[in-house]
Amino acid sequence: MPAFKTLDDLTDIAGKRVLVRVDLNVPVTDGKVSDTTRIERVAPTIHELSEKGAKVILLAHFGRPKGEPVPDQSLSLIAPAVEEVLDQSVAFASDCIGAPVADAIAKMENGDILLLENTRFHKGEEKNTPEFTAELAKNGDIYVNDAFSAAHRAHASTEGLAHHLPAYAGRTMQAELEALEKGLGQPTRPVVAIVGGAKVSTKIDLLSNLVTKVDALVIGGGMANTFIAAQGINVGKSLCEHDLADTARSIMETAKKAGCSIVLPVDGVVAREFKANAENETVDINAIPADAMMLDVGPKSVELINGWIEKAATLVWNGPLGAFEIAPFDKATVSAAEHAAEQTKAGKLVSVAGGGDTVSALNHAEVADDFSYVSTAGGAFLEWMEGKELPGVAVLTKG
Ligand code: AMP
Repeated sequence: MPAFKTLDDLTDIAGKRVLVRVDLNVPVTDGKVSDTTRIERVAPTIHELSEKGAKVILLAHFGRPKGEPVPDQSLSLIAPAVEEVLDQSVAFASDCIGAPVADAIAKMENGDILLLENTRFHKGEEKNTPEFTAELAKNGDIYVNDAFSAAHRAHASTEGLAHHLPAYAGRTMQAELEALEKGLGQPTRPVVAIVGGAKVSTKIDLLSNLVTKVDALVIGGGMANTFIAAQGINVGKSLCEHDLADTARSIMETAKKAGCSIVLPVDGVVAREFKANAENETVDINAIPADAMMLDVGPKSVELINGWIEKAATLVWNGPLGAFEIAPFDKATVSAAEHAAEQTKAGKLVSVAGGGDTVSALNHAEVADDFSYVSTAGGAFLEWMEGKELPGVAVLTKG
């Protein structure tokens, strides 16, 4: 990955107006922020800039207001939680461009923090128009992007601004990019990927990219059924996209040419109902009863997967191995996650995980803190796994 500038390169910034793109798209229940993880992730960057005496001006989106002001998607609702997490007072401007911002900046002392209103209240944000970007740029001397999770979008505040102002990666963006580089960019081999989750259809690009990059690809979850069925094995009532049999076979063919081993389950835990504690049995993969569905990979498969985790120097993980939300079909996911965590703690493995339900699956297994890096970015992480260039990252690395 080409080099990008970080906060280490920002030394003499006392009194400078620094526009910091952060991710404040947090869940809100009954008007209150119910999970402050995203705010906590950007706090180090905000604190560091504030301590260096910059005027810290936060830019963020919240929800999908489609270019119009929507009162219940105002960032003023999030401001108290930002203050609480930062333990510092945060001023608020009722717009992200124009007079309200200029007035609020005029009142700032060095080290102060100002939160601007939702960037998506203007159509120019998602359209990345030069006019809107220029209006945003008027309020800053420097641009810092700390929102990796929004980096797959070429919006004014995530991409456009870097063409107007000197651009730097914030600490969270930096950590994410460094972790991803270790995961797939310049990984220590062998690299093993585990991909699970419900369906192949949502992950065709991801699987196609991975088989050209990794030494082994473990396929679990509902999507394994499509691959198994494509080998002519009966998967009973399991979740299966039979229409994607050709796609599955072609991914396996690409893997073979690229020298990537595909690891499919050899046994499974089957049930007749998709519910917690449903009566279940463990069967060989060739013996799935016609009236049953596979809801988790079986113990022999876990042994096989754990063996691959032991062989790996680097592990990239997206998606659960089974229906982990309903016990006991969480067993394989928990066991493999625990094994990866142990190998990581022993210094034998670099483990990078993320995307969608993966974070909740690893939290459920209580190992998220033991992985080398767990990305909370959903779409951006998946696009990275698909091998796509993320516009918000590209603009930082191209300088
Ligand atoms: P994804 O968002 O594609 O990573 O899919 C995650 C979802 O896949 C979770 O809600 C799991 O319950 C579900 N899942 C994993 N394995 C299975 C399976 N064998 N059958 C049905 N659903 C599954």
